[in-house]
Amino acid sequence: CSFAHFSFDKALLEAIRKSEFEHPTPIQSLAIPAALSGRDVLGIAKTGSGKTAAYLWPAIVHIMHQSDLKEDEGPIALIVVPTRELAIQVYTEAKRFCKVYNINVVCAYGGGSKWEQANELKNEGAELVICTPGRIIDLVKMEATNFLRTTFLVFDEADRMFDMGFEAQVKSISDHVRSDRQCLMFSATFKQKVERLARDALCDPVRIVQ
Ligand code: AMP
Repeated sequence: CSFAHFSFDKALLEAIRKSEFEHPTPIQSLAIPAALSGRDVLGIAKTGSGKTAAYLWPAIVHIMHQSDLKEDEGPIALIVVPTRELAIQVYTEAKRFCKVYNINVVCAYGGGSKWEQANELKNEGAELVICTPGRIIDLVKMEATNFLRTTFLVFDEADRMFDMGFEAQVKSISDHVRSDRQCLMFSATFKQKVERLARDALCDPVRIVQ
């Protein structure tokens, strides 16, 4: 499989080429066409599999297709990850591709300044938000952002979010994001709690096991 098989536009293909990635990884080959077709995805994949790009590129394509929503506020795509370190890592990768389209990305994690993150969310019209579960809920409660236009939702490292005790927060995010959203979920393992979230949050997902 080659990147040209995905229905990405020239600008994204060029940005991928500049990243010096030669071929899609197996998870990318399977998850990206499913996500671009609008399906929910459940991917069982570990760090190092290329899973970040497997949800990030479809998130960017999704945002670019929602130009009528650009004037509103709140994330169009929301990526929920368990830790500050992962949030920063995903944010760094996201910025590289988002700058191609002038998509605003905001990173909101526990341990960083809530006020700074609130200001960024309010000022930048953040179309893509990468967050940890507790912090984004706090920011919504503070009315710094909302999920009204969120139509693309990703839970990454779902098993780790449960290991860290974020079960209620993850469930709350899933329940508060509109039901007509597309949802992608990735986890290194497929334990009972992950299975339960998959059943609640995903609609007839394409299942990909690495
Ligand atoms: P991840 O599994 O998302 O944490 O990605 C692991 C590493 O692989 C990251 O440094 C990515 O930049 C890199 N990567 C992602 N996709 C590809 C690809 N198609 N080819 C080579 N490297 C990649």
